[in-house]
Amino acid sequence: MAGRVERTFKFVIVGGGIAGVTCVEQLSSQIPSAEVALITAGPHIKAVTNYKQVSKTLEEFDVEERPSSVLEEKFPNLTVIHSAVQSLDTQSHSLETTDGRLFGYEKLCICSGGRPKLLTEENPYVLGIRDTDSAQEFQKRLSKAKRIIVVGNGGIALELVYEVEGCEVIWAVKDKAIGNTFFDAGAAQFLIPSLEADKPESAAPCKRHRYTTEEPAAGASQTFTADRNSQQHGAGPTETGSALGPDWHEGINLRGAQQVSRRVSVEYQCEVEKIFTSEELPDSQQQTLGPENAGSWPVYIRLTNGKTFGCDFVISATGVVPNTEPFLLGNNFALADDAGLQVDEHMMTSEPDVYAAGDVCTACWEHGPLWQQMRLWTQARQMGWYAGHCMAARVLSETIELDFCFELFSHITKFFNYKVVLLGKFNGQGLGPDHELLLRCTKGLEYVKVVLSAGRMVGAVLIGETDLEETFENLILNRMDLTPYGEELLNPDIDIEDYFD
Ligand code: FAD
Repeated sequence: MAGRVERTFKFVIVGGGIAGVTCVEQLSSQIPSAEVALITAGPHIKAVTNYKQVSKTLEEFDVEERPSSVLEEKFPNLTVIHSAVQSLDTQSHSLETTDGRLFGYEKLCICSGGRPKLLTEENPYVLGIRDTDSAQEFQKRLSKAKRIIVVGNGGIALELVYEVEGCEVIWAVKDKAIGNTFFDAGAAQFLIPSLEADKPESAAPCKRHRYTTEEPAAGASQTFTADRNSQQHGAGPTETGSALGPDWHEGINLRGAQQVSRRVSVEYQCEVEKIFTSEELPDSQQQTLGPENAGSWPVYIRLTNGKTFGCDFVISATGVVPNTEPFLLGNNFALADDAGLQVDEHMMTSEPDVYAAGDVCTACWEHGPLWQQMRLWTQARQMGWYAGHCMAARVLSETIELDFCFELFSHITKFFNYKVVLLGKFNGQGLGPDHELLLRCTKGLEYVKVVLSAGRMVGAVLIGETDLEETFENLILNRMDLTPYGEELLNPDIDIEDYFD
């Protein structure tokens, strides 16, 4: 790294997303006299607003894009530098930005987020959604589209297929059920009717204690249609901006070029084999295309289940790749299997004085039995806050223990217009066959699943307005032996809150 260091800061944070901004806020509040720099590629920063602690570990908040001046006004010792970091030299403790400036640091925190893991980087018909720009591009393309293909089974895919109207959606998932990242086949079965109807049906509660869901076979497909107009209901690039977050689709119109309100077909247990344009479509393949592919589409996609679909464009929603590139060359960062920067229980990377938080990092400390990392908004905030706390503690020679928020995984969100709460090992993650499930489901109203291990509650999925989150969180944290209660735990006629008072 040639050139002269323009200025050295006590703390430098890279990335104006939720992790970076929270880290800056924590450092600046804890050590107001310290000189802090926030280097970020995007023009805006992300701010947490309307923060609400729902229970001991569950939190809810909104996220707003704000001009960085708001932060600088609040923290006089903060300097925001709008440029992307292009290289880092951990030996000399300096960073170079793309506009050719060199900055020094005493302690650095990398919060550069991730970017969509695209099926292919070079195809103009394959889009990822990450930031405001990519969401706007998606909206523009969608407004002229008659059919899109969504590939992926995480949160973004789930939200998209539910929100998009006026355009046929073919949804390719590699699993046996939708939403595999967040819940099991039973919950998927509960949610699926929402793709076909506008209003949830109400039905008598039914209590189920084991899975009865039939999984779709490999290559099977299901179609769901909701057509508000006709009232017919049938069966159903390297980015630099911050990631979007909760409710990212509110405020943008996700309408295609057709009259239909919603028409989603799910292709289960398949992946993308090939993407080609109509010119590249082999003659042999042309013959085998069904009537649904009549006419010509700008792009075709062949799935591993042997089906080929034409569409206007493909949305690749298959996860994120941590944004580590600018920091790696010449340094010795230990990387995790998912390519994130490995961090220990103090959010420190393997390089001295370099911390990391949010989507860019992989938590490599020995996790508690009820926590796992997921690249989510809440964890970006918690990690950013905790990293700031650890950096300040180091400078102040204070000792610090792993924060309580890493005791229990908890996430609150909305899917298909239902409130969804996930606690602990909600999918029996890592428990092997050594666990039991209790289920209660009322079609269209609620889905409650409890994961028990050795008689103790270790996880839960709560869909709908169950009002059980706080009680279950307590039961999980208390590690109470629930064997004596058995199935009564989910008896809808018992007020469980009173029961454990
Ligand atoms: P980011 O928000 O990605 O911020 C990274 C920052 O680093 C940006 O400011 C960027 O400009 C900057 N940067 C990158 N490279 C450089 C560089 N070289 N130099 C300088 N600056 C750089 N999570 C939920 O919990 N709930 C949801 O409902 C939800 N929905 C989502 C929907 C979408 C469409 C997407 C894309 C994500 C969603 N997420 C959701 C995930 C959530 O947004 C991320 O986990 C979270 O934003 C990660 O925050 P971060 O600060 O680590 O990274």
